Amino acid sequence: MPQEDGSARAAPTSPRCRRCGEAVEANAADYDVFEQMHYVCFHYEFEHQGDPDVECDTGGCPAAGIHHAARFVRTDGVNLTHAANALVPAILALESSGYTVTQDGTLFVATAGNARFSAEDPVSLLGLVRLAELRRPWRATDAEIDATLDRFDL
Ligand SMILES: [Zn+2]
Ligand SMILES: [Zn+2]
Repeated sequence: MPQEDGSARAAPTSPRCRRCGEAVEANAADYDVFEQMHYVCFHYEFEHQGDPDVECDTGGCPAAGIHHAARFVRTDGVNLTHAANALVPAILALESSGYTVTQDGTLFVATAGNARFSAEDPVSLLGLVRLAELRRPWRATDAEIDATLDRFDL
């Protein structure tokens, strides 16, 4: 498959994958082990059975990382307002994502590994986690703050 954004073009010396034609870089050392293909291409060419989006029984199946449908599919038709009925689902969503949720006085706290989030309600807590996932670093720059305050009454 051609790279749609044209980024990270390979050096002209990189070997080419026999299956997709793109440069083999990350696994170049194993180029011959994988029959002159990407590992993923090798897997789908020789090992994978059935729907490419469904994890197969072979160890290291790339489809193992696909647990969620694309975002536009997941949110299709949803009309959700922050209200009391979202509080329990927010806690359950955090817990199913691997966070431990506790209460510390008036604050709800989510922790996982060395990450810690705290907010006054579970929906805000989930929002902070999502913020950290979407932006790294999460803080806005001075220019971003100025431009955004022009558009919103915060
Ligand atoms: Zn390939
Ligand atoms: Zn597979």
